[in-house]
Amino acid sequence: MAKKISPRNQLLTGFTLFELLTTITIIALLMSLIFSCISAVRFQGWRVECMSNLRQLYHLVAAHANDHRGRVLATGRIWYGQLYPDSIGISGPVADSGVGLSWPELQPYSDVPLADSLATSGEETRRTIGIWMCPSRRSKDSRAIGGNLVNQGDGNTYLNTSYSFLAGSEKWSNVERASSGEDLTQSRLDPQRILISDLFILWAGRQFFVNHTRTDSVAESQIPTSFAGMNRLFGDGRVAWKTASEFDLSAISAGDSAQPHVRSELTDRWYY
Ligand SMILES: [Zn+2]
Repeated sequence: MAKKISPRNQLLTGFTLFELLTTITIIALLMSLIFSCISAVRFQGWRVECMSNLRQLYHLVAAHANDHRGRVLATGRIWYGQLYPDSIGISGPVADSGVGLSWPELQPYSDVPLADSLATSGEETRRTIGIWMCPSRRSKDSRAIGGNLVNQGDGNTYLNTSYSFLAGSEKWSNVERASSGEDLTQSRLDPQRILISDLFILWAGRQFFVNHTRTDSVAESQIPTSFAGMNRLFGDGRVAWKTASEFDLSAISAGDSAQPHVRSELTDRWYY
């Protein structure tokens, strides 16, 4: 009479350690494949949403120019009186003078309401500020928008956006800083002129702050592998993606000043 094997024993004898390890390995491989697919889809989503942000910003700038004899807003004035390309004035001189890329200046042309208090975090503020932030950064920013509001100690509040506003940057002086709000007019908005781009800055010669990477900031050595590319808005309203391979990343990492860049402090460089 054959010996009866209980289901429990069958299970124990049915799987060898090798089979078990093989199964675990296959599951792990499948998981990583799924995660990389999800990651790729998310990256693509950010890119598309970012393009939409830039198109909306173009309409705000163009509508504002129409009402101001064609004058296009210049870069915002902050920080020791120099002009930086990547901030929006919430209060103070930028908003009052109307030369800077300022929220109060552009808000009347937007159907996105200005939040009562920008210093609050949460979904409401996050939605409100939507088009001013590249989604690749916004989604990583656990501090929400309040963390991007800075007071420079001059009584004004500035919003650190994730876009560089480059209008008039070709007029920046030899010391590579902007000198004044420029009378950049609509008639000079041509297809070659970059108006706004994703952020790509080498900060204080040490660390890059870039959009479309997996982390908010990356060390110089990580740029070639982490930086995917940037969206750029041109003077005719066209938005185009510039992929990482179109940059000479090794030269940028080495701080080669021959690379196209905008610099507002001697040690900081904006690339576009
Ligand atoms: Zn972007």
